[in-house]
Parts: sequence; structure tokens; C-alpha cells
Amino acid sequence: MADTRYGLLIDYEYCSGCHACEVACKMEHNMPTGDFGIKILQDGPRENSNGRWEYEHIPVPTSLCDLCAERVAIGKLPTCVHHCQAGVMVYGTLEELAKKVCKPKMVIFSR
Ligand code: SF4
Ligand code: SF4
Repeated sequence: MADTRYGLLIDYEYCSGCHACEVACKMEHNMPTGDFGIKILQDGPRENSNGRWEYEHIPVPTSLCDLCAERVAIGKLPTCVHHCQAGVMVYGTLEELAKKVCKPKMVIFSR
């Protein structure tokens, strides 16, 4: 049977750490200070023992993420997807998203 659960595919290779998704999510859900539906985590800059550097911004939806249920119910995209200028996130069924994973630095968030 097809998996009809939904989620976000996050291609963090292209995340600039601009925080627009965080702000859009907070505004959409009218969240109080301190609450976030998505957080941008930062890894690095730090040097590995092989001489290569790690420096990533990684968007991580939190337990408060409802996948923008009210927006998607009326045919809109989740607001983080809509506001990300870099096109880092894609919304869809887990089955659809899994088919789009084609390179490193892509993760799927599910609820
Ligand atoms: S996911 Fe997009 S909107 Fe969010 S911090 Fe990264 S580049 Fe900015
Ligand atoms: S899908 Fe909606 S609720 Fe979830 S992180 Fe994105 S903007 Fe926030």
C-alpha cells in the first residue's frame, strides 16, 4: 500500500542560514518568543583530520511543526517552502520525496 504520510525533503547543501523559514513559520503560527516550528542548526566551521572543512546550515523542523496543515488544506505550500529563496525544501508524500533523494546532504523530515 502506498505511504500517504507527508513530509519535507531538505537539501541542506544550499541552505544559506538566512533564517527566513524560521521567521515565516513563527509568523504563520503566531508563535510566542522561544517557540519555533523549524530551527537552523549550524555545524562548523571546523576542520576534519583529513584536512577538509565542515560548514553547514541545517534546517530542522521541531515537534511544533504541523506541516502547515491549515495552508496545505487550502492548496498552499507550507510557508517555509514558499519563503525559501534557495529552494532548499520540498513538500510531498514520503513516497514522492524518497524518489527525489539523489545526492548527498539531503534528508527527509516526517511527522
Ligand atoms: S532553508 Fe532556506 S529559508 Fe531557511 S535558512 Fe536555509 S536558505 Fe534560508
Ligand atoms: S512546514 Fe510549516 S510548520 Fe513545519 S516548519 Fe515549515 S513552516 Fe513551520
